[in-house]
Amino acid sequence: METKTFAELGLSQKVQAAITAAGYTNPTPIQAAAIPVAVTGRDVLGIAQTGTGKTASFVLPMITRLETGRARARMPRSLILAPTRELAAQVAQSFEKYGVNHKLDVALLIGGVSMDDQVRKLDRGVDVLIATPGRLLDHFQRGRLMLMGVEILVIDEADRMLDMGFIPDIEKICNLLPPRRQTLFFSATMPPEITRLVNQFLRDPERVEVARPATTAKTITQSFRFVSDGEDWVKREVLRDMIRSDNVKNAIIFCNRKRDVAILLKSLLKHGFNAGALHGDMDQKSRMETLDKFRNGDITLLAASDVAARGLDIPDVSHVFNFDLPWQSDDYVHRIGRTGRAGKEGIAQSIVTPDELKSLKDIEKMLGEPVAWIGESPTEQDFAESGKRRRGRGRGARPGAQRESGSRGRGERPAASSRPEHAAEARPGKGAREEGREQRRSEGRREGARTQAQPQPKAPRPEPQATKREERPAAAASQAPRPRPRPVDAEPAKAAVGAFAGNVPAFLRRPARPAKAAGE
Ligand code: AMP
Repeated sequence: METKTFAELGLSQKVQAAITAAGYTNPTPIQAAAIPVAVTGRDVLGIAQTGTGKTASFVLPMITRLETGRARARMPRSLILAPTRELAAQVAQSFEKYGVNHKLDVALLIGGVSMDDQVRKLDRGVDVLIATPGRLLDHFQRGRLMLMGVEILVIDEADRMLDMGFIPDIEKICNLLPPRRQTLFFSATMPPEITRLVNQFLRDPERVEVARPATTAKTITQSFRFVSDGEDWVKREVLRDMIRSDNVKNAIIFCNRKRDVAILLKSLLKHGFNAGALHGDMDQKSRMETLDKFRNGDITLLAASDVAARGLDIPDVSHVFNFDLPWQSDDYVHRIGRTGRAGKEGIAQSIVTPDELKSLKDIEKMLGEPVAWIGESPTEQDFAESGKRRRGRGRGARPGAQRESGSRGRGERPAASSRPEHAAEARPGKGAREEGREQRRSEGRREGARTQAQPQPKAPRPEPQATKREERPAAAASQAPRPRPRPVDAEPAKAAVGAFAGNVPAFLRRPARPAKAAGE
């Protein structure tokens, strides 16, 4: 494929200057394909996901097109719909970055932040309104804004909106917009519901598709560490060992349950690590603060759950650790895609307990080759027993009490107060909270006692056999267990994403496991 330069895409001089200031030298494939179409005012159907540079592929032409014209009170000139607050906030940041040479008025309508300023902005008139669908409709229904001035509509991460039950809201919003508008529509996959939406609301769109990024970026070195004693405190020791013995600049450490994120954070802090946490029980403000601290290096380790970290663009992460193996192999790709981004080298290390060998098999199947172990690897017998074993710590059942937000089954329409953008703050019931507190208390006691009683001699660590991943073979991809069919996965890639191979959004969340933790 011929390589285009930013100068050839039809962007304004001021936008090009901002791109140079951002340090970008060449457009990514999605940018090279989508921008020349979008600047002309045509509709675009972009099939691409986070990590491909897709945000700039709509923000840059939008800024170029918005250079002419003026905003009127309560009538935004363009509207961007994003599934989550974090994504919406990131898109807003992109306008700051790429719009440095412009005086664009941008408003953000998302849950969890004070709305007074945003409403005042709306009253004065905004060029760009970025919103989550629920919040937007809320404001519309209160008469705080009118939508008939919208010239450009962007729908970002449409398939995630589908998973979150937002499609009826999207349809409602589209019907409130003037039919003569430009629509830029982005989705990582094209399930039938999304195709239907495209057929209904886009006019003769140019379809621009970039390859589903390699399952795992070529730049990520992956390894696994088998911990035959699956107790959490042992895992925490192993994790500390992994952090200390590798040159960790900064890392995200993933846990499957938000409660474990809190426990891990406490433990890391106790052991003198510079750590923070990101989980679904945190309010928006603390999430943003933590994320900022992590971005600017005030925090070097970030314990996180999938949902809290979903869709976040955190550049320059040197390591990803899986404290727990994710229950679904797609999430593995999504998690480790946080490192090795934009051509940088990254390291992903995962702890595997006997209980998790089944998940490990799924991951191997998806990757299409055996994983590389650091140290002792599990035996055939371990694998054989893992299928039969009743999951430790009462893991067999998976009640919803500790569910992360977003773990709803597909098609379950959440009540307004529990929609994902709100539900991120949903707290477990009192019982679960009490239990969590008790667990944290006892965890602190136990860990203190154990680390004193059992100092860990540092065994010499065998070198991990680096496995550099290539594109996910279609066959392996289709074998991977999927929560629902996603037809586009089976399609051949149209263009290489190259260094921008990023991560795969996780589409379905599993119910969390029961509250009892090991030995607690
Ligand atoms: P996105 O897919 O929009 O989440 O972007 C992924 C990352 O790539 C972000 O950190 C962007 O700042 C970065 N990025 C976007 N476009 C380019 C480019 N042309 N060159 C280098 N980095 C880029």
